[in-house]
Amino acid sequence: MSGKTQEILDIYSSVMMPTYAPSVVLASGKGVTVRDADGLTRYDFTSGIGVHNVGHCNTKVVKAIQDQAAKLTHSSNLFANEPATELAAKLVELSGLGGKVFFCNSGAEANEAAIKLARKWGSQNGGRYEIVTMRQGFHGRTLATVAATAQAWCQEGYDPLPVGFAYADFNDLESVRAAVTDKTVAIMLEAVQGEGGVTPATEEFMKGVRALCDEKNLLMICDEVQCGMGRTGTWFAWQGYDVKPDLFTLAKALADGIPMGALISNAKFADVFTKSAHGSTFGGNPIAAAAALAVIQVIEEEGLLQRAVEMGELFREALQGFVDKYEGLLEVRGNGLLLGLVVDGDPAEVVEALKAQGVLALVAGGNVVRFLPPLVLKPEVLEDVTDMIDGALDCVFGE
Ligand SMILES: *Cc1c(COP(=O)(O)O)cnc(C)c1O
Repeated sequence: MSGKTQEILDIYSSVMMPTYAPSVVLASGKGVTVRDADGLTRYDFTSGIGVHNVGHCNTKVVKAIQDQAAKLTHSSNLFANEPATELAAKLVELSGLGGKVFFCNSGAEANEAAIKLARKWGSQNGGRYEIVTMRQGFHGRTLATVAATAQAWCQEGYDPLPVGFAYADFNDLESVRAAVTDKTVAIMLEAVQGEGGVTPATEEFMKGVRALCDEKNLLMICDEVQCGMGRTGTWFAWQGYDVKPDLFTLAKALADGIPMGALISNAKFADVFTKSAHGSTFGGNPIAAAAALAVIQVIEEEGLLQRAVEMGELFREALQGFVDKYEGLLEVRGNGLLLGLVVDGDPAEVVEALKAQGVLALVAGGNVVRFLPPLVLKPEVLEDVTDMIDGALDCVFGE
């Protein structure tokens, strides 16, 4: 750390609440690289935590934001705007669920909307309100989504949490079945748990949850905030499982860094939120919507779903090679370009060594190094990064 970085971080720690402890100050980004306040360039294999699927400052997204900013920056929901309407139509089409969309501004808000919709419907269908969520899942930081997040570190100190959540073990259908009562209205899960440790659902589990929801008249809610928008090689990760949820949520990568969240329903639940039943001042913001439309266009035109699969395979092979090489590594997990390296030890140590090599990565769960590179990743960059990862692993686990 030097000059400008230290200067900014000193001010940061005196005026920002210490919920985070950054050691890097980002000044600019382009594609898969970011530049810090002192001009040092690194590969960003966090994508701003799963946000920059089309890369930092993607030319088409920047242009869409600039054009829209000069036209109309906000319409409120008293008035419709064209980009949000077009985006909703596009999301309905990509989902194939034939439903409708509610826009908000973040992942937690999108999940909050899903929880409220499920409860609204449940209130009219047997007075049911309980939602079963998965241990090691992550759904956000509002009170309801913290209650939905079955992890102690997230909940500690916030009692009383909203009631109405029950927890089950991920990839264990019997555990989910056991958590369902006559008050249950929905089951909510990530097809690939991100924060909780980069754990994909098994196909059997996803299909089992769908069947259980059909049997008990429950909504199946997929939280696609991290695994959605092409990251696992399909538009939405649930599409890789041959199941259809009733509701799913998006945020992180939706608008490439402009805050935006969305709740998407199927046809059956499209009109549960009636007039004034829910709302958001900024939801469907035209700049965010224009950015999201550009993101979708880039993913389509540049074949990024296929790229996520291909680069994901190459990256997985490289990581598997390290598991074979270093005793401190246990396994590789994940789908597409949402990959986790499970370590026998502290993943933060590896993330720190990676930073020194020039690669930004994340931790997940208690023992996973998480990689979320932009989907625009090219083989030559991956090769470069693979060498850097080898160097970092050698520092931590080498003889
Ligand atoms: C990040 C995340 C959230 C929360 O999104 P915010 O935009 O931070 O509120 C919810 N669910 C999942 C799966 C996430 O990864």
